[in-house]
Amino acid sequence: MSILFISDLHLDEARPHIVDLYTKLLGGGAREADALYILGDLFESWVGDDDDSALTARVAQATRALRDSGVPVYFMHGNRDFLLGEDYAVRAGMTLLPDPTLIKIAGERVLLMHGDTLCTDDIEYQKFRTLVRDPDWQRQFLAKPLAERRAFATHARGESRKHTAMAKPEIMDVNPAAVAAAMRAHGVRRMIHGHTHRPATHRFDLDGHSVERIVLGDWYEQDSVLRLT
Ligand code: MN
Repeated sequence: MSILFISDLHLDEARPHIVDLYTKLLGGGAREADALYILGDLFESWVGDDDDSALTARVAQATRALRDSGVPVYFMHGNRDFLLGEDYAVRAGMTLLPDPTLIKIAGERVLLMHGDTLCTDDIEYQKFRTLVRDPDWQRQFLAKPLAERRAFATHARGESRKHTAMAKPEIMDVNPAAVAAAMRAHGVRRMIHGHTHRPATHRFDLDGHSVERIVLGDWYEQDSVLRLT
């Protein structure tokens, strides 16, 4: 058994070599896997399923081909591609997962998250998240012309870069109490998430048990895959 987990690829027209690495994984190593989980931020931004860019078409085709070869592909929203909808998921052969999602691997309960909800010290971001995850806000946004949505996404990315550069590093990481609360709430001893771009395996004690938090790496400059066997 082998299950692959990736996140934070931030696929973008501006970094075609990263798109190549993704399609290489899907056409190569991932074909031997039992499942592929994409835990958010597959795309650098998402302005709607009607986006007719060459990038979204290519990614859909490559992802669909993996699914058609017999490997189920699961997708959880990140903070960049939270607007990715059922239409595109169907086109790409991906099953949408809520955040968080509890799965069982070889009988063990494993909690999957994107990770942004664990960064509770970043008050400004959490306010923004509440706004853009509101169904009314999303309906209004998606009703705007594509060009206007693209302009908003470009602006939001600029603001996000500014925020990341200004905020204290510890604010941009997960809050330990939020991690503990999530693990307790779901009764797990292992969680896997991305988002922070700080790949690591953290082992610590929680309520007298040894538990593990695996953080996936980003794909800004290279690929990063977690393989559970
Ligand atoms: Mn993220």
